[in-house]
Amino acid sequence: MKIGVLALQGDFREHIRILRKLDADAVEVRMPKDLNGIDGLIIPGGESTSIGILMKRAGMDREIKNKHNDGMPIYGTCAGAILLAKEIIGNRQLTLGLIDISVKRNDYGRQIDSFEADLSIKDVGDFKGIFIRAPRIARFNNHCQILSELNLEPVMLRENNVLITTFHPELTGDARVHKYFLDMAQEHKELKDAPEDAANQNSREALLEL
Ligand code: GLN
Repeated sequence: MKIGVLALQGDFREHIRILRKLDADAVEVRMPKDLNGIDGLIIPGGESTSIGILMKRAGMDREIKNKHNDGMPIYGTCAGAILLAKEIIGNRQLTLGLIDISVKRNDYGRQIDSFEADLSIKDVGDFKGIFIRAPRIARFNNHCQILSELNLEPVMLRENNVLITTFHPELTGDARVHKYFLDMAQEHKELKDAPEDAANQNSREALLEL
């Protein structure tokens, strides 16, 4: 399975490493053409303002939205989650608006802006959450599925084909969250390929009738 990792800024190399550990074909995405043929896209952590500016400059925002409309799964960690959010409270920087949440950047305060916490993730299990200048999710639509919480606030959410974590699984060496995303991508790939299989089957049957 081919998974793209947006490689404009941030910790994209760590995502690629962990995807390869899972035997996925992980590729760096820098230009719209790099999106061709991928079954899923990861937007890494980093600096959301910079990634947003570079993404727009490369004309990637529109192309990523098109892929989302086609049903391709997208996973954003931290800055990636901010870029996928519908709204950034108190900030007018670019977002893709693909998950109906409102986030506040760097909202855990200066004193504890980076920390680790023991999380429990639905369908995954216990997991070490590494939070680095993480955003807080101040609002989410009821359509979002909460997969993990910290102090009763969501830190991992999914809305259809969009997954976000405000923490960094790529920094743990534990590949289970990436495996969860690969399963989403696999499901999408199977759906995408299915009609073609059916069509092939039909033409095969038609040939047999000749
Ligand atoms: N604080 C960063 C931002 O707002 C996100 C930090 C991260 O990705 N670890 O863009």
